[in-house]
Amino acid sequence: MSREQEQKVFLDNLLEHGFFIPMGEPGLFGRTSKFENIIKGLEALIVSATGEEEVTYFPPVMPRKILEKSGFMDSMPHLAGLVHCFCGNERELPALKEKMANKEDWGQMLSMTDLSHAPAACYPLYPTLSGTLPAGGRLVHLGTTCFRHEPSPDPTRMQSFRMRELVRVDSADNVLDWRESWFERAIDFLQKLGLKPERVEASDPFFGRGGRVMANNQREQKLKFELVVRVYENGPLLAVMSLNYHQDHFGTQFEIKTADGETAHSGCMGFGLERIVLALIQRHGYDVSAWPSEVTALLGLS
Ligand code: ATP
Ligand code: ZN
Ligand code: MG
Repeated sequence: MSREQEQKVFLDNLLEHGFFIPMGEPGLFGRTSKFENIIKGLEALIVSATGEEEVTYFPPVMPRKILEKSGFMDSMPHLAGLVHCFCGNERELPALKEKMANKEDWGQMLSMTDLSHAPAACYPLYPTLSGTLPAGGRLVHLGTTCFRHEPSPDPTRMQSFRMRELVRVDSADNVLDWRESWFERAIDFLQKLGLKPERVEASDPFFGRGGRVMANNQREQKLKFELVVRVYENGPLLAVMSLNYHQDHFGTQFEIKTADGETAHSGCMGFGLERIVLALIQRHGYDVSAWPSEVTALLGLS
């Protein structure tokens, strides 16, 4: 089977076995409680594996300023989603209605608002940390619904998906030590669920030719690692978690200082919730009641 066929079979099965409800756009799914119960179990397991019970939930939208200030629009503008609205007056409304009725592009009648979608869980956090961190820095557990404009027929590549992230902000040494301490633990976390993760050096999908240079730098400096699993025989491996080091990028942009007065460094570890659950379904089958009892026990499903 080709990669495209495998993706289609997987999606058809997810629909047929009642995990997803199609919404008419690629990468956008309604999720049934059959799927969500696994997500809930996974979230509880993340809390117990990390020991981080306090979770901060930012809404799926954030100030647009963060996209601008963080450099996201320079490096990955093609993935961003901005919130627009009709800010016109009554005189302008008929033109909008007419364009809609004629199925013309009515986007030009809209204006940008001050909000954008969150492309990853950690972006809304940094402005809240502006100033001086307490001694020992901060470790924050986040849960956010993210948007990325990457429509795909592959059900593992969604436009709207949830991420749990742990974000560590402190000196470079402390952030790197923290990330180092998680490589084995993160692999162990996934293995306990029956997955067979591999750790690979990775880069972000930066835009354009300049982006290739950025991606090479990211790999050379070992800034990004992904834990990947095989879900398709012929497709690329699937990143279910990532462990990133941002150097002092966000510390500089959002004026975050360590207790010693240095510009703070940061790193984050992201759990792709839907992707982990999809990898579990692919591994253990569409009948959750037939999953290995160790796995259902861990997820609170037995
Ligand atoms: P990929 O390499 O597959 O594009 P990524 O490197 O862009 O993923 P990150 O930016 O590191 O992913 O995001 C953290 C985690 O969020 C990923 O490890 C993955 O599990 C999940 N994730 C990223 N993009 C998507 C998506 N489009 N749909 C579902 N989950 C996603
Ligand atoms: Zn992050
Ligand atoms: Mg990647």
